[in-house]
Amino acid sequence: MSNPPPSIFSRIIAREIPADIVFESDELIAFRDIAPKAPVHILIVPKTEAYRNVAELAAADPELLATIAATAQTIADERCGGEFRLVFNTGARAGQTVFHVHAHVLGSFATESLTEGSLAD
Ligand code: AMP
Repeated sequence: MSNPPPSIFSRIIAREIPADIVFESDELIAFRDIAPKAPVHILIVPKTEAYRNVAELAAADPELLATIAATAQTIADERCGGEFRLVFNTGARAGQTVFHVHAHVLGSFATESLTEGSLAD
């Protein structure tokens, strides 16, 4: 059987698709969401495609999950005053469309606050 095609995020990691990358390490990449739902909307993506969602990641590599949380804080410190919402959509009925685990870092600018409605379709 042939391997499944790489996820869209793996293609961004491989520089096959352009993205506005804001952070990269050996383990992670972070870039602006192409369809932002908040003034600050960054995706943090493990470079491994081994985990489809946050539960699989947490079970297999909790340290990597902790690194995602710490990276979210760093990104929020730089972009939205250190305050942020961290979202992992898990499953199609919860809105997940890319089954390569990723965190949404959502934040607002200093003069505004996030509302629930600004984050939902
Ligand atoms: P989810 O719906 O939780 O799976 O999140 C997938 C996210 O990836 C969505 O918010 C999309 O807007 C975003 N997305 C899809 N393609 C790209 C891309 N080429 N560059 C940046 N973000 C993307």
